[in-house]
Amino acid sequence: MIKPLLDGLKTTLNHFFRKPITLQYPEEKWSPPERFRGQPVLIRNDEGEPRCVACGLCEKICPCGCITVHPHTGADGRRQLKRYTIDLLRCCFCGLCVESCPMAAIKMSSRYELANDRKEACVLHEQDLMEKIGPVSDVSG
Ligand code: SF4
Ligand code: SF4
Repeated sequence: MIKPLLDGLKTTLNHFFRKPITLQYPEEKWSPPERFRGQPVLIRNDEGEPRCVACGLCEKICPCGCITVHPHTGADGRRQLKRYTIDLLRCCFCGLCVESCPMAAIKMSSRYELANDRKEACVLHEQDLMEKIGPVSDVSG
């Protein structure tokens, strides 16, 4: 009669002294796994310019319609990126933009702290999308 009671108590005590599985966020930060799909970011080339050539494939393939690409013609007559925006409020983090890009110019980063109290701040422009990001090797967070 008392054995099931003791078994239950033992289980409770075991869990009580185990390492907690919850994080004390925001003091403790979560480290996403390698293949985590966080905020999309634009990748710079070695000159620090966006790799993006404004082909518009990502804009076409995005199932949420949250990418807008504005191209312009550069001094050398080539198509260049003028403006690039992603509306994070609509993004479903599917990663199709990354898969479609022929220039490997966009990547899903590990950024997950995306909460904001202003709707407008959730529409990211090319400067925001490349902000604090250096060459390709630095694109992780
Ligand atoms: S991750 Fe998906 S939804 Fe978000 S911008 Fe890319 S294609 Fe669009
Ligand atoms: S698919 Fe790549 S190169 Fe083309 S517009 Fe999108 S990010 Fe730029």
